[in-house]
Amino acid sequence: MPRHGDSTFSVRHYDLELTVVLVTNALSGVATLSCTALEDLDDLTLDLYRLRVTKLRLDGASPAKFSQRGARLTVRPRRTIAAGTEFTVEITYHGSPRPMPGPDGEAGWEELADGLIVASQPHGAPSWFPCNDRPDDKATYAFGITVPQGYTAIANGRGTGSKRRGSTVRYEFAESSPMASYLATIQVGRYVPLTSDVAGVDLTTWCPPGRKAAVAEAFADQPAMVEAFSRLFGAYPFATYAAVVTDDELEIPLEAQSLSIFGSNLVDRDWSAQRLIAHELAHQWFGNSLTLRHWRDIWLHEGFACYAEWLWSEESGGRTAAAHAQEQWDRLSELPQDLVLSDPGPDDMFDDRLYKRGALTLHAVRLRVGDEAFFALLRAWTERYRHSGVTTDDFVSLAQELTEVDGAELFGAWLDETALPPLT
Ligand SMILES: [Zn+2]
Repeated sequence: MPRHGDSTFSVRHYDLELTVVLVTNALSGVATLSCTALEDLDDLTLDLYRLRVTKLRLDGASPAKFSQRGARLTVRPRRTIAAGTEFTVEITYHGSPRPMPGPDGEAGWEELADGLIVASQPHGAPSWFPCNDRPDDKATYAFGITVPQGYTAIANGRGTGSKRRGSTVRYEFAESSPMASYLATIQVGRYVPLTSDVAGVDLTTWCPPGRKAAVAEAFADQPAMVEAFSRLFGAYPFATYAAVVTDDELEIPLEAQSLSIFGSNLVDRDWSAQRLIAHELAHQWFGNSLTLRHWRDIWLHEGFACYAEWLWSEESGGRTAAAHAQEQWDRLSELPQDLVLSDPGPDDMFDDRLYKRGALTLHAVRLRVGDEAFFALLRAWTERYRHSGVTTDDFVSLAQELTEVDGAELFGAWLDETALPPLT
């Protein structure tokens, strides 16, 4: 994203100690970042939006200077940090977080009627913690979240305990798999858990107590989805998966690492709701374990997650992926053809045509190489690049390597041209 991130250093681990006061939408935090210099550093820059830094320590001591300008927090060390050196930045901050504006609208921290969500894709992470906001700088995370008693706090990864302190409760979570900053999240609300486990994965669906029965029914197929996708895409990449259903209605479901967020309006057995449950789950492989290095490659997330919807339809006895593909090809052929899948630009990053054309591209590859080679390719893709960053070229190269079909022949005009190629 323009004006986000600093490529001169990398963050290995974020420790976030946060206290949330819901009635005033107040956040106070201490963020401890374990970093590595990738170049000699005379200064380094973090992203933080609207929140005020009151104290900053570099390896336990005051830096020469730190300053905030716009959404950038610049730190000047007392002496140059040599390339390869590990160092720690501890930042004490507070404020009233707001969603952060960006080229695709607002993202990040958002108040609900009775709680809050964080939905940072693609640029909203700085709305709640100081970060090196680049999708290619993955780190592990530990969260301590203190909220008023009566509320539950949920974050990425595994819950490792909660403790009451007076009128508040502190919840702990740990994400031990590397995670991009935009996929970090906290959710606060009056939630109860529904739990199950499948294929060694702990599944938890959090919802308001009054919605328990409806949510249990709507999410009943989620374990079967985990099973089907683990077979088709390779082992589920994390130890846990959680879905949070808010009491509020939400325009769209939201994706975070090992966690997805759904509005109460999406609690339904209809295909229109089921496809989204499958879509968000598929992002755990395509988007969270394998994360784009550059936002122009967003089809590697959305095209794959959209194709996963069609695969779930096929798996669950509904329409075949081929039928979905034909329907969407017919629809796209009637729409303007001015979008390049491999570089859509900021305005069309989340355009529905990108989702569908991405899925059609995969279907075209499947038709060309056959089911066996196609699913072997998907599994090799998720295995080779597990928990790391990817580009479109990585996928094309792997497809070429495994299928022994030239990339240009395999992908044809799907990736780099605007006109819609025939679906053969
Ligand atoms: Zn998606």
